[in-house]
Amino acid sequence: MSDDATDRSNSGPGNFVDDLVRDDLARGLGRTLMTRFPPEPNGYLHLGHAKSICLNFGLAQRHGGVCNLRFDDTNPTTEEVEFVESIQADVRWLGFGWFKGPYYASDYFEQLYAWAEQLVVEGRAYVDSQDLEAIRAGRGDFHRPGVESPFRDRTVEENLDLFRRMRAGEFADGAHVLRAKIDMQSRDLNLRDPLLYRIRHAAHHRTGTKWCIYPMYDWAHGQSDAIEGITHSICTLEFQNHRGLYEWCFDALHFDPRPKQIEFGRLNLSYTVLSKRRLQELVAGGHVAGWDDPRMPTLAGVRRRGFTPEALRAFCDRIGVSKRDGVADVSLLEHAVREDLNARCPRVMTVLRPLKVIVENLPEGETVHFDAPLHPEHPAMGTRTLSFSRELFIEQDDFMEDPPKKFFRLAPGREVRLRYACLLTCVGVDKDPSTGEITALRCTWDPQSKGGDAPDGRKVKSTLHWVSAAHAVDVEARLYDRLFKVENPMDVPEGGSWKDHLNPSSLTVLRAKAEAHVATAGEGARFQFERLGYFAVDPDSKPGALVFNRTIGLSDAWAKIVAAGKAG
Ligand code: ATP
Ligand code: MG
Repeated sequence: MSDDATDRSNSGPGNFVDDLVRDDLARGLGRTLMTRFPPEPNGYLHLGHAKSICLNFGLAQRHGGVCNLRFDDTNPTTEEVEFVESIQADVRWLGFGWFKGPYYASDYFEQLYAWAEQLVVEGRAYVDSQDLEAIRAGRGDFHRPGVESPFRDRTVEENLDLFRRMRAGEFADGAHVLRAKIDMQSRDLNLRDPLLYRIRHAAHHRTGTKWCIYPMYDWAHGQSDAIEGITHSICTLEFQNHRGLYEWCFDALHFDPRPKQIEFGRLNLSYTVLSKRRLQELVAGGHVAGWDDPRMPTLAGVRRRGFTPEALRAFCDRIGVSKRDGVADVSLLEHAVREDLNARCPRVMTVLRPLKVIVENLPEGETVHFDAPLHPEHPAMGTRTLSFSRELFIEQDDFMEDPPKKFFRLAPGREVRLRYACLLTCVGVDKDPSTGEITALRCTWDPQSKGGDAPDGRKVKSTLHWVSAAHAVDVEARLYDRLFKVENPMDVPEGGSWKDHLNPSSLTVLRAKAEAHVATAGEGARFQFERLGYFAVDPDSKPGALVFNRTIGLSDAWAKIVAAGKAG
């Protein structure tokens, strides 16, 4: 369970970005390889960000470079300190660290402003006083050329004066913007006099009310890359058509050397939405308990659910990096999680829906002890002692009074094995006389079958998990199903909402009975509950009142897909 920031095993060489970087290094960069991960602090990080983090930090690790964490904090109205803090915690948890920083685009506001004045002085930027609506309309589209603003030919003096007064706070939001003066006829829409600054009278989480104009993404991002000495600016495909503007700014400011932008396909996952804005909607709308709800695809959510950073890094390695956007099958992620948990989790027994069993031939007060391994393949994990006494619990659905043909578990007159303990036969059923509901099973055990097998070698078909009533601890078990009912939640019929696809039964809470071994488990501890799945201790736990999240069940859909030869 290492949270060690120096664990560098899983960062995924052999992708096309890695190849490009390798080529550049072979030709000689003349400076240290430097990448960056640039989140906007307007929400918690999600699984898509994990892909970008593994890629950017992974490249730096493999090639002796540096990866900066930089907050792209240019939008004061959506950004918060809570997000700045959670993002740092999440990157660290995933196993990555930064040497200096973190950096903030807001640290460069003064420099960005100075460069913008330089553009104004050189006649490469102007103050436009049209409203946003008019500016948008004037830009045209792929079929229509842009129309020049009536304010485009303001003199340098007038532009400089207006821009300085914008900064000084003389104008209301929306009264003016600063635009680059490029080419309204350009085939590249982003070069049709893009906005560089807008007025926004809003307090910023770091600069307070010092500024009332804020740089646009395109102006802040490239220049921030250049200031930090980033060599490779790796971003998702939607920024491909911003690359012309990214380069234009460097040309205008005569940067040399300059960063190189490389785009890759973002991660999408089936049955999942990966967008901070939508995740924010789920939180704000009360559809989940918070950003770290274990059903959320946020790093905070999956951590609370019990995923490990190792599993996420292995998943990111496996999905690879490509030049196309694709949808990864969520069962591939689940497979990576299971594979990791299978190796590391001690096994214990917990009964989720308890049915009482009375062992008639074991006197009250008598306890039999059995030793059981904590992991069948790792004897070094040791053993724990199971207590077997007159009253036990088994799962309600492991018993049927009138079983169909294929049901091999417990039924009247039938014998089963209790895991690590003995053979047990059902000899009777107690019922509530008024409701007819089964209240307990009457059973006998075979003392000759200690450990689970009879000396006469007779066969039993089923092995059940169980706990001793007197020794078990009461725990709360939270079982999760997928948050969305459909593979592509964004596929919405006319007039519908993606939120219509939310799964109304994504959470089930049970009062369960756990084997005494878990009683002292601390927050974050993980176990396999035999036959039921992997569980992790939730931070809601209190002494004597443990809460377990089911991280994932045991059945592995991806393994079946691979076995059937259907995976690529
Ligand atoms: P969202 O739409 O969720 O807000 P974003 O791209 O706006 O995502 P940023 O905070 O700007 O979020 O993202 C920081 C970095 O993470 C960017 O470089 C972005 O390209 C990358 N990133 C975001 N989502 C994904 C994803 N699904 N797959 C891969 N990389 C992603
Ligand atoms: Mg964004």
